[in-house]
Amino acid sequence: MQGVGFRPHVYGLARRLGLAGFVGNDGQGVFIEVEGDDGAVAEFLRVLEAEPPPLAVVERVTAAAVPAVGEERFTIVESRTGGERQAAVSPDTATCAACLAELWDETDRRHRYPFTNCTNCGPRFTIVRGVPYDRPLTTMAPFEMCRRCAVEYHDPADRRFHAQPVCCPDCGPRLLLADPDRRPLSGPGDEALASAVARLRNGEIVAVKGLGGYHLAVRADDEPAVARLRARKHREEKPFAVMVGDVEAASGLGDVGPAEAAMLSGPRRPIVLVPKREGLPLAPSVAPGNRSLGLMLPYTPLHHLLARDLGIPFVLTSGNLTDEPIASADDDAFERLAAIADCFLVHDRAIHIRTDDSVVRAFRGGILPLRRSRGFAPEPVLLPWEFVRPVLATGAELKSTFCLAKDRRAFVSHHIGDLENYETYASFRDGIEHFGRLFDIVPEVVAHDLHPEYLSTKHAHDLAGLDGDRVELTGVQHHHAHIASCLADNGEAGPVIGVAFDGLGYGTDGTIWGGEVLVADLAGFERVAHLAPVAMPGGAAAIREPWRMAAAYLDAAFDGDVPAGLALAARHEDRWATVVRVARAGVSAPLTSSAGRLFDAVAAVLGVRDVVSYEGQAAIELEQLADPAEADGYPIEVEQATGGASGLLIRGTELIRAVVADAAAGTPGPVVASRFHNGLAQVVVEVCRRVRAERGLGAVALSGGVFQNLLLLERTVAGLEAAGFAVLLHGRVPPNDGGISLGQAAVAGARDREARTGRPPTAQS
Ligand SMILES: [Zn+2]
Ligand SMILES: [Zn+2]
Repeated sequence: MQGVGFRPHVYGLARRLGLAGFVGNDGQGVFIEVEGDDGAVAEFLRVLEAEPPPLAVVERVTAAAVPAVGEERFTIVESRTGGERQAAVSPDTATCAACLAELWDETDRRHRYPFTNCTNCGPRFTIVRGVPYDRPLTTMAPFEMCRRCAVEYHDPADRRFHAQPVCCPDCGPRLLLADPDRRPLSGPGDEALASAVARLRNGEIVAVKGLGGYHLAVRADDEPAVARLRARKHREEKPFAVMVGDVEAASGLGDVGPAEAAMLSGPRRPIVLVPKREGLPLAPSVAPGNRSLGLMLPYTPLHHLLARDLGIPFVLTSGNLTDEPIASADDDAFERLAAIADCFLVHDRAIHIRTDDSVVRAFRGGILPLRRSRGFAPEPVLLPWEFVRPVLATGAELKSTFCLAKDRRAFVSHHIGDLENYETYASFRDGIEHFGRLFDIVPEVVAHDLHPEYLSTKHAHDLAGLDGDRVELTGVQHHHAHIASCLADNGEAGPVIGVAFDGLGYGTDGTIWGGEVLVADLAGFERVAHLAPVAMPGGAAAIREPWRMAAAYLDAAFDGDVPAGLALAARHEDRWATVVRVARAGVSAPLTSSAGRLFDAVAAVLGVRDVVSYEGQAAIELEQLADPAEADGYPIEVEQATGGASGLLIRGTELIRAVVADAAAGTPGPVVASRFHNGLAQVVVEVCRRVRAERGLGAVALSGGVFQNLLLLERTVAGLEAAGFAVLLHGRVPPNDGGISLGQAAVAGARDREARTGRPPTAQS
């Protein structure tokens, strides 16, 4: 099993069934001996597997008969060596119903206490400093338990038995409200909360110290207040998440279906992206030009108190300037947020691991993770095969995560962020060491991206040492890692047809890939089709300015003879000719087969977005423009690659020509945008059919950041299923680069297994 709360659960169950015996932890998990009549023992085994406590996951139960010894009581025995090490660091978990009832109960000693928690809920991963997981090695160490809390902590029948962060108003952390110079603005506790709520009501920006870091809060219905937050945070357009008190309040703002409601109110409490309601009572600046809205329900007692006392939806966004990591240490937060927040609602429990809010979407009733962090990490992804040797995978560069894997478990880290920021890179390196200690993993194999300039690649080489003899390195191509990540996410080993569409990743030929169809298993891949490469004029500048990509695509699509009267060309008249020249010359214009760049080009041609202020913005807005009722798609041919290259070519230039012709004929933008999505989905299905005809593969894995686009995903999945394919999607790690580390680890593990045992991993092994 994994997770906490298991021994008291077993204790309670055994007592209820009148069984004697004992329960304890060892390095493998939990061991139990029970003694009693057959029916009770059988019932015990059934409930053990079927109804674990909320924070525990039962991986496997094995049982054997032993002679009865005449025990009379049931006891919890001391842990055997190493017992707590693997078993006990859970994700941070939303306040449970029992703790919430105490929070609102005027007669309870924890009435309105913002740090209430128990075995089934509360802070975990973010407060753990080391192993064994015990109070002295958490950030609760400075708080000495009062007598009443100690009684609860030591009573196996109590809901707080061995809950390390247990505390109460007499002995635990307390709230304070301070100005940006750290001078108190009110008394502590409820007074601080009341004052913060009054200030929020007045439109002030309040920095709130939460579970994994500082947030910035402002009432979400006050346009000048939200606009002020945007200006101070230097965040131009990227949507803000909004916290509301309950599912009913969420339904007033967005289209919340059963899957969304379950995610919103579940124990992980991510931000859930939902379609925005028309005419909703929120400031336009919350999510400008966006048809969806990120909603979140309270996940700590402090958030519950804020939501109830304020009674108005409020923006709750990361406490940082754009592109910086979220602030988590007090000194750092006051320094960096002083120019943004009007006041600070803080407390005296330290945050050890900075952890952002997770972000998910619902797709076909399931979960599509976009950012896997608080509430999910450090729960491992369980795999049906074993790693022969421990593996570290260092991930990609943007949306970085790392993964440490051992036995059947792959511990994918929380979202770390963009490594090019120095502080983020430091937390990446510290995080790897922290995970290694927590889960007792000393990697012998280190997997990395092929991009030589990624800091994650450089870190892998640092670990290997100058002679490369400290650990074994294995390079994993970016899109192979995406497909392997999708395979591992589904517990599959392949081979499979893998469609990896994303912004960019380093290819084996030194060009930038991103519109790839592979035949892949965990150990290897073959590139069987891809988007025809187009120049990126100005390199990184073409990512920030999609109109450059459009210029290159148009020039290629019309053979230098771009139709006159294009609004886009007129908008950039002064630089158009230069950019086209750069694209043609191929200097400072690397070739790319990226699907993300094709979306950028189409977005610019349709006047959706010429210049972006955050990654993926043009593609997101193109998806939002599209009219989902439109079913037609632009038909494009699949060609056999020539000139020494193998495989099939998808010509994005054909899609661009169709878009230009359709728009020129007066077809409305939403219809054109939809036909583009449909055309791309159709050509993916066509390529997969051809690959199936040649290779006999009937399963397709879809991965890469472009498949966060639900319209493209829906049309592609529908087309593939209609053609008889089994489709593998992401459900545990994101399809974007946040999932790359899991794929790298799976690839490294598979290669290592083949090298050492001569057998590849299988879904059954
Ligand atoms: Zn609880
Ligand atoms: Zn206490």
